[in-house]
Amino acid sequence: MNIKKSGFNTKLIHAGNIHDQFGSAIVPIYQTSTFSFESSEEGAKCFAGESDGYIYTRIGNPTINALERQIAALENGFGAIAVSSGMAAATTIYLSLLSTGDHIVSTDAIYGPARGVMEKQFIRFGFQSTYINTTNIETIEKAIRRNTKVIYIETPANPTMEITDLKAVAEIASKHGCLLVVDNTFCSPYLQNPLDLGADIVFHSMTKFINGHADVVAGIIITKDKTVYSQLRTMMIHLGCNMDPHQAFLVLRGLKTLSVRIDRAQENALKIAEFLEKHPKVAWLKYPGLKSHPQYKLGKQQMKGNGSMISFGLKTGFEGAKKLMNNVHLALLAVSLGGIETLIQHPASMTHAKVSKDDKQKAGITDDLIRFSVGIEDAKDIIEDLKQGLEKV
Ligand SMILES: *Cc1c(COP(=O)(O)O)cnc(C)c1O
Repeated sequence: MNIKKSGFNTKLIHAGNIHDQFGSAIVPIYQTSTFSFESSEEGAKCFAGESDGYIYTRIGNPTINALERQIAALENGFGAIAVSSGMAAATTIYLSLLSTGDHIVSTDAIYGPARGVMEKQFIRFGFQSTYINTTNIETIEKAIRRNTKVIYIETPANPTMEITDLKAVAEIASKHGCLLVVDNTFCSPYLQNPLDLGADIVFHSMTKFINGHADVVAGIIITKDKTVYSQLRTMMIHLGCNMDPHQAFLVLRGLKTLSVRIDRAQENALKIAEFLEKHPKVAWLKYPGLKSHPQYKLGKQQMKGNGSMISFGLKTGFEGAKKLMNNVHLALLAVSLGGIETLIQHPASMTHAKVSKDDKQKAGITDDLIRFSVGIEDAKDIIEDLKQGLEKV
């Protein structure tokens, strides 16, 4: 059977599997740093790239490669490069694609550290960056300069839930000779496949939906093109931000249930979003599954589901948000997202506390914004928890 042509769920269960001499049903953990050769000739062949034998785990490892093959199949890519974290994926991409004097255009509400590393670290190497509201296609085109090499999008953006039109941005990128990079963490390969919409590179923080069990930090980069793939893999090997085999095993295990987890979480999220939107203490709410979302139609076009991330604000603003944080009991007050457990977070007092007022305002991260990552508990219990928490606000 040709796995490449099978459905998403079949790929989830079978795409990465290896057939070892024992007939293992699941990919084993090859917890080894190095691999021995049968002979000096065989070693020479491996180093010359004439044989695909393994050499050293920073370069490649059977457990890690199984995960890479699987995710590449799920994103319809040429190949994938697993790395130690989502940020390792972002920095490997920046360092592979940019040279001194090059410029990127990116979403203003992009994952904070992915912006921070450009503006506070890589600025020393002469990398230039412009952060704009990428939901407006004209704004993107205006921001492109002669030295723009990369357009880097996150959609839906974190934590504003704004959606960028991937097809339209891919057209602009190709017109201007730029590569389009998409952070697909919020959707996972189950809900959105940016390569199919014209993106060149996709990456995930696998810490979130892909692993989904709040017990691993990991990242992965998927490319459409073989040359870009080789460039990124070489950079990963040189930077030494490889994944560990045991980490890869845990992600492979978490990944098997990606679609059933997301199905349950987004079913819960819709019920919770409907409850919150009607609540008299809620001032506003953004969830791609509700018609009130400003890009509801676009979301339906490019996403295969609504996801399980909700952002909302209370009429009592910043103080109200803090009160709710302190009065929910089931939802964990924690950063991260996309896991089996429900998490609640207040960017203005937590993740984005150090971002300037001006940058927060421009990116649409208001002081009252509460980010809610819906888990797979019973929806009625999560709603009950929010209801009693809101009573105390
Ligand atoms: C968490 C996250 C990252 C960074 O991933 P780590 O695994 O924490 O390094 C990047 N992008 C998005 C959208 C994220 O949510």
